[in-house]
Amino acid sequence: MATPKPTSEGASLADRLHGVQCRVADAAVTAGRPLDDITTIVVTKFHPAALVRELADLGVANFGENRLQDAAPKAAALSDLELTWHFVGQLQSNKVRPVLEFASVVHSVDRESLVTSMGGAADAAAASVGVFIQLALTTAEHRGGVQPDGLEQLAVQVLGQPRLRLLGLMAVAPLDEEPRRAFERVRLASQSLRAVAPEATALSMGMSGDFTDAILEGATHLRIGTAITGIRPDAG
Ligand SMILES: *Cc1c(COP(=O)(O)O)cnc(C)c1O
Repeated sequence: MATPKPTSEGASLADRLHGVQCRVADAAVTAGRPLDDITTIVVTKFHPAALVRELADLGVANFGENRLQDAAPKAAALSDLELTWHFVGQLQSNKVRPVLEFASVVHSVDRESLVTSMGGAADAAAASVGVFIQLALTTAEHRGGVQPDGLEQLAVQVLGQPRLRLLGLMAVAPLDEEPRRAFERVRLASQSLRAVAPEATALSMGMSGDFTDAILEGATHLRIGTAITGIRPDAG
C-alpha cells in the first residue's frame, strides 16, 4: 500500500523542501545508502522563475522541466545563477537544439532518431550532454520510454556519440503497479545495461508520491515536483 502523502497545506516552500529532504535522508538510512549518492532534482514545470530563484536561495541546484516553451524563458531569466537544468519531458527531434542550449542532462531519451539529433546538436555545445535512457515500464505508448528488449541497442547508439555521456536509466512508475516492484524492474534492467555500459550506473526514478520506494531500489536521481513546489499552476 502506498504511504499517504503528508499534507502540505499552509507549509512554506522552505518547510516543504526541508520535509522532503528529511524523508530522503531517512529512506537513505533505511536503504543503507550514503546520502551523497542521491541527487534531488526539483521539477518546477509551470511554476514561475521566481519560485526557482527562491529554491536556489534555499540551496537547490538541480531543476527539472518538461516543456521547451515553458523552460527556455525561465532558464534565460535565471542565467545569473549556477543551476543545472534537467529536461525530463518527451522530446521531439526538432526541439533538441534549443533544449540543449539550457539543459545539460536529458532524462527522456528513448529512440535512435533522438540520439542522432542529440549527438549532432551536442557537437556545438561546450560540454558533453548527460543522457538517461527512459525505460518503458508499460506497453502504453504515450508514456514514452524504450521497451526493455530495445534497451541494449539504444545504449550502444548513445555510446557511439562522442558528445553524449550515458548516465543510466530513467523511469516513471506505471499507475497500475506498486512503485517498489516497478522500480525493482528498473534496477534489474540497470544490471543488464552495465554489461554494455559499465559506467552507466545512475537511476533517475522517484517522484512526489513514490520517492522513498525509489531510494530503496537504488535511485540516484529523484525528480520531485509537487511535494516541494506545492500544487502546479495550470499547464496553460
Ligand atoms: C512532473 C514530473 C515529475 C514530478 O512529478 P511530481 O509528482 O509533481 O513530483 C517527475 N518526472 C517527470 C517526468 C515529470 O514530468
